[in-house]
Amino acid sequence: MSEPITIVLLLPQVLGTYGDAGNAAVLATRLRWRGIPGHVLTVGWTDAVPSGGDVYVLGGGEDAAQVLACERLRDSIGLRRALDRGAPTLAVCAGLQILGTAFTVADGTRVAGLGALDVETRPGGGPRRIGDVVADPLLAGLDAPLEGFENHGGITELGADAAPLARLRDPARGPVGAGNGTGDRLEGAVSDRGRGNVVGTYLHGPVLARNPALADLLLTRAVGELPPLEVPDGIPATTAARLRAPRRPEHELRTGARRRAGA
Ligand code: GLN
Repeated sequence: MSEPITIVLLLPQVLGTYGDAGNAAVLATRLRWRGIPGHVLTVGWTDAVPSGGDVYVLGGGEDAAQVLACERLRDSIGLRRALDRGAPTLAVCAGLQILGTAFTVADGTRVAGLGALDVETRPGGGPRRIGDVVADPLLAGLDAPLEGFENHGGITELGADAAPLARLRDPARGPVGAGNGTGDRLEGAVSDRGRGNVVGTYLHGPVLARNPALADLLLTRAVGELPPLEVPDGIPATTAARLRAPRRPEHELRTGARRRAGA
């Protein structure tokens, strides 16, 4: 039997806003439903980050928690090694900002990031960006629209070495969210001009539960071609169909995304 695939979930106690830890569970489950042994290794505050994980997952967090988490992760040799060898990594919201070159939180504190993504985040001013997001992917290997919800104060500018993950749909057809918040309709970032394995996004949901194709893309990068997925008995047929062939029908997309002021 081959070695189980290890999904490394980083600091969910501080980077776990909106159930982002569920992304790790989705990855491990989609492996198991293909007969590939996979498990989640949760890295708590005092645990060392392993360098040999197969996929790394970071979630969102409030500003204060995000600053602490960044300082903790910046000192991690294990994570540095994993990022340097190009381990597939999903970073949501605060996670995206932490993996960038630097971020500035609402109180003006500027913090050096881990530099795995060529992005920088600054306070966007005005109301937080809160609501549902619908975006068309720009990353090769993804064809289904991405959706999720966002809640962030920071706005993220991409540098030359990062490519956007997706482009927000045309707002003329209904609210589509803010994404990176820079007014150019870009959402998320992918390392090495889109060829790298670090994927950052503002989408919660958890994003991999709502966009299983993105989960499979990360898994493919970790383990190669994936065998067909066998959904266990007892899951309703419509859900099972979507889990098997993860393309979300157009009419199910939440194009009526709500926008609310304040947080
Ligand atoms: N603290 C960050 C911001 O507000 C990230 C928020 C989050 O992870 N939801 O921009």
